[in-house]
Amino acid sequence: MTYRVVVIPGDGIGPEVVAAALGVLRKAAAKGGVNIEYEHCLAGGAALDQCGEPLPAATVAAAKAADAVLLGAVGGPKWDGVAPHLRAEKAILGLRKALGLYANLRPVRVWDALAPHSPLKAEAVAGADILIVRELSGGIYYGARKEAHVADAPDEAWDTEIYTAPEIERIVRVACRAARLRRKRVTSVDKANVLATSRLWRTVAERTAAAFPDVRLDHLYVDNCAMQLVLAPKNFDVIVTGNLFGDILSDEAAVLAGSIGLLPSASLGDGPGLYEPIHGSAPDIAGQGVANPIGCILSAAMLLRHSLDAKAAADAIEQAVEAVLAEGYRTADLYRPGLTRLSTEEMARRIEEEI
Ligand code: ATP
Ligand code: MG
Repeated sequence: MTYRVVVIPGDGIGPEVVAAALGVLRKAAAKGGVNIEYEHCLAGGAALDQCGEPLPAATVAAAKAADAVLLGAVGGPKWDGVAPHLRAEKAILGLRKALGLYANLRPVRVWDALAPHSPLKAEAVAGADILIVRELSGGIYYGARKEAHVADAPDEAWDTEIYTAPEIERIVRVACRAARLRRKRVTSVDKANVLATSRLWRTVAERTAAAFPDVRLDHLYVDNCAMQLVLAPKNFDVIVTGNLFGDILSDEAAVLAGSIGLLPSASLGDGPGLYEPIHGSAPDIAGQGVANPIGCILSAAMLLRHSLDAKAAADAIEQAVEAVLAEGYRTADLYRPGLTRLSTEEMARRIEEEI
């Protein structure tokens, strides 16, 4: 069988890190006997320049028909002045919607070799391995809101959070399934001492996790979770939470790893998944060959694992990344005297060789 992967390089450092990740993906797939056909598509600023819109219908159609989408990053100052409906970020929101993506997976691993780069003490973070599962399609970001400038009540504003049991159930199921492939612990994060949505969240999480007797579920209030991520990051396995808390906690957890350039993400629904590094288009370093491609390379590994059912090939990429870091190879963002500095392309080549 041949899988189809849509590739969207995007803007800024997007094309550089995607080219690097594709080389590694091709190598791992060839070695693991996974057949993949690639189709390059446009989105973001590049699409705006060539087609006059940030998310062309052809890209949406190709993504829907594919098994997975690999994305670099979109946007940049060149397109900051465009009308709101043409903004590059619309491309991501549009793709999420078209593909029905409701689960955002953000793994944060602190590789031993990189622990000294963490803002926390190396011994406190070395070996931390956390997967944050964030609900992506509901909650307060999508509820009704009132802006303060409306004439009848100019000094009042509000946002609404709505969650339904089916929305909570499906995201907790994603977390429990992911935990089964890991250390079998899920921490559900809410603010059930205050919020009604959180009380429903807690009840439904309990009920859903009961179908996974091999997975241990516990609960943490979001304020306590924010503290524990810094005090004892190694105590976490899988964290599952709503859209707002997940947005904040996943950025907090990301800094533990030492560079934004290292971290991958997956957004999953019931069809094709979308895989992208967590960083943006980084216009300040674009075109210089200095971007860290590891976030995009690990996104490709997640693509193999979650959308192509190619666990061995995914493991091979992750092991190669760990080995290359342990050997002291670094891109500019993580370079220190005594280590070996590589360009974006050289880092990809080194990881391919390791595979
Ligand atoms: P966005 O709004 O798209 O998230 P941003 O400006 O908030 O963009 P990034 O584009 O991720 O965030 O850049 C934040 C900082 O991190 C920049 O200084 C950038 O150069 C750096 N950075 C981002 N990605 C990488 C990478 N892969 N390698 C090295 N440095 C990176
Ligand atoms: Mg940003």
